[in-house]
Amino acid sequence: MQLLDGKVVSAAYKEQIKKEVEERKAAGKKTPHLAAIIIGDNPASRAYVGNKVKTCGELGFNSTLVEYGTDISEDELLTKINELNNVEAVDGILVQLPLPKHIDENKVIATIKPEKDVDGFHPSNLGKMMIGQDTFIPATPYGIMLMLEHYGIETSGKNCVVIGRSNIVGTPMSVLLSRNSEPGNCTVTLAHSRTKNLAEVCAQADIIIAAIGKAKFVTADMVKDGAVIVDVGINRIEDATRKSGTRLVGDVDFENVKEKSSFITPVPGGVGLMTICSLMKNTLKAADNK
Ligand code: NAD
Repeated sequence: MQLLDGKVVSAAYKEQIKKEVEERKAAGKKTPHLAAIIIGDNPASRAYVGNKVKTCGELGFNSTLVEYGTDISEDELLTKINELNNVEAVDGILVQLPLPKHIDENKVIATIKPEKDVDGFHPSNLGKMMIGQDTFIPATPYGIMLMLEHYGIETSGKNCVVIGRSNIVGTPMSVLLSRNSEPGNCTVTLAHSRTKNLAEVCAQADIIIAAIGKAKFVTADMVKDGAVIVDVGINRIEDATRKSGTRLVGDVDFENVKEKSSFITPVPGGVGLMTICSLMKNTLKAADNK
């Protein structure tokens, strides 16, 4: 078993991005600028956004963090997004999900200018991705593609099972892996909550991408010997041995599945780090596109 180590791969990409930003600045080009909007005080969302803003600083980007309480109205939020759409200095805009129930997520995503939609969630960007046009690829699937490429994982002709059909992870992942590209050219099965005999479906997979949101859901009996396992899940479980009383685990039962896999991502230290890295790549691309 070999770890697909998000620390190693993201460090390599971040180094490359940092260098490009330095070159841009030396050539008198504008500094990439990411604006992030966060609503409420969900600790996980706060941690994700905090990491994104911190990474901007590390890579030499500018960043703006806009914070609101959960009492913000949908109109106020849309007005802010429109304002950022029109700020020339801002290259990328992201609104951290999930949003409070009274705010329509689809409306919010559709309000971000596609040229600044560095999360790649806007319908026009997702549509472009579907038909293989150049666009912003959603950060998590993009990060997974970079990870597979970095480790030279052979994907062509392989059976891949993606578990989870969300618009931000599972569905775009299934599209990217079935494309005629490298990595890609997989025969993809997109499994979800209504899939029958999931264990049997998974047992056929050369590659499993788990994006479900259920701790340790993929168990060793579901995995074929030598499979490549990519764990997207981030779940907090109780752990009395930790000072905090909790710890993070993925959607895969790592300790048991690792014995059967050829490659596997850890949680934490796997896909999450790649997600931030590809968000930064998208922001740099947005600045380049100008
Ligand atoms: P989601 O809740 O939108 O989707 C979950 C999917 O899992 C659904 O499509 C559902 O059909 C499927 N599912 C639920 N129960 C199932 C079952 N019993 N069998 C088969 N499929 C089932 O989730 P999401 O936004 O795609 O996120 C999934 C996980 O990935 C979460 O833990 C989330 O925190 C994590 N995540 C991590 C990153 C990262 O950077 N590492 C990024 C995004 C999401």
